[in-house]
Amino acid sequence: MHIGELIKKSRGGEVLLREELVYLLGHEPNSAENYMVMAEATRISKELSDGKAEVHAQFAINLAPCPCDCLFCSFAKINGVFTEATELTPEQAVAYALQFENDGANAVFMMSTAKYPFEGFIEMSQEVRNNLMPETTLIANVGDQSLKNAAKLKEAGFSGVYHAVRLREGIDTSLSVKKRKESISNFKEVGLEVGTCVEPVGPEHTNEELAEMIEFTASFNPSYSGAARRIPIHGTAIAKRGVINELRMAQIVAVTRLGMPRTVMGNCTHEPCTLGAIAGANLFWAEVGANPRDTEEKTEEGRGETVSDCSSIFQESNWDVWSGPSRYYNGSSS
Ligand code: SF4
Repeated sequence: MHIGELIKKSRGGEVLLREELVYLLGHEPNSAENYMVMAEATRISKELSDGKAEVHAQFAINLAPCPCDCLFCSFAKINGVFTEATELTPEQAVAYALQFENDGANAVFMMSTAKYPFEGFIEMSQEVRNNLMPETTLIANVGDQSLKNAAKLKEAGFSGVYHAVRLREGIDTSLSVKKRKESISNFKEVGLEVGTCVEPVGPEHTNEELAEMIEFTASFNPSYSGAARRIPIHGTAIAKRGVINELRMAQIVAVTRLGMPRTVMGNCTHEPCTLGAIAGANLFWAEVGANPRDTEEKTEEGRGETVSDCSSIFQESNWDVWSGPSRYYNGSSS
């Protein structure tokens, strides 16, 4: 196997095989070979998205200790970071969404913790939808859902969802891989577009695990895939496993691009960084309110970046930013 051959194969429009992804992931992050892969991933992303990256923006409608206990999440009950449940009023939710719309986000994401009552989420989303411009792309980030609930999300005016099978799902979380996959298929069946990611990557994940997950995300032709590293939540057991650096994350972002078919226009990373953007990431997220990677109740006072911050990081990385509704959702990429 040789890096040049794999790049040539990818240029021919072929998706790389799992063992080829493992080979690419095995290079030193600061090797010339890896920089070649990062450059090629950027070339592909720019070609597919016409040199224009997107910034999506997420707010959480609630904050609550979550019994699903994903070890990497600050909401997990087991982590004891948040002990009280709070939720936005519909007016606050509308204000956050309008702020994102005004800031020029290409899509507005509404998130809730997994056990937030679904009917309440739908009611709140209708308030939000009714106050946004009809062309604004609204995306849901919620727990696993039945086909019936997926249809309700579609009826409420969502264009799509974010949903992922997380690395070591069922081991580092109490959720089942089967249910995560069923939910993805339910969302797709009702016409909701699904964005996903290889996440949350830590130093313990092997190249084989990463390649297998890249391959899985490619298998359902998502609106975007990508890679995001795990952010250690201070004081939690999983924080002791450490954190990968941004360059290693950038390498995984780039290899993910080479593992996707060209029908997938988007390639995300989180948290936003120039290294990700020069490794083929063409999607970042701004965040306000509760954030599963933050211990601040309002992430805008902590780790969260604004739409303008995300755009600046893209511009510093020689990317233009798309103006208008997301092309990754809304059918442009499938
Ligand atoms: S990631 Fe979602 S399901 Fe898991 S603990 Fe956090 S809020 Fe709950």
